[in-house]
Amino acid sequence: MRLGMVIDLKRCIACYGCQLSCKAEHGTPPGVFFARVLKREEGRYPTVRQLFLPVLCNHCDDAPCVEVCPTEASHHAPHGVVDIDHDKCVGCRACMMACPYSNRYFHDERQFYFPESGPTLYEAARSERHPERVVMKCNFCAERRADGKLPACVANCAAGARYFGDLHDPNSEVSRLIKDRGGFTLHPEAGTGPAVYYLAP
Ligand code: SF4
Ligand code: SF4
Repeated sequence: MRLGMVIDLKRCIACYGCQLSCKAEHGTPPGVFFARVLKREEGRYPTVRQLFLPVLCNHCDDAPCVEVCPTEASHHAPHGVVDIDHDKCVGCRACMMACPYSNRYFHDERQFYFPESGPTLYEAARSERHPERVVMKCNFCAERRADGKLPACVANCAAGARYFGDLHDPNSEVSRLIKDRGGFTLHPEAGTGPAVYYLAP
């Protein structure tokens, strides 16, 4: 099995549901977004349009972040998911330099969104997942998957724009969407073999 994601840009309404549900799920510190929605305007008034692009770790087949990690903290977990063993991470940040997609974050010291009133419910519940002085990123919601749930960004996409499944199964929904609608990956020239695919708007 090779886990992967498909994001349908035709359905995405840039509601930021994925970005916010990811933050709630992981209780990530200020400035850290395992899932993000990038927005850009194109054209000149009155013929302008907005382009949306939800992004996250691509869980690459030939992941440069895994290759450069001196301690094997960054590794391929089962089903192709790229994860970080925080007990092994020495915070050297070589993986951040190597990732062509800027999908990794260095957690320097614990910070909360509202320091004067202490951690929010989400931050308090999740902060043990985020030790200081190590690198952090999306792991396709490993804890949720262990409970048989979909990643938070998929489960909470109000537009039904995100799909998750086995890229190696030709009959899975993700494989059929990629085949039928010409799914593509971001920056294929980087040669990393992303497992996150997009369907054109
Ligand atoms: Fe787009 Fe779905 Fe993310 Fe909303 S939750 S921004 S619709 S991908
Ligand atoms: Fe590594 Fe970046 Fe690929 Fe994620 S997107 S697997 S962090 S190289």
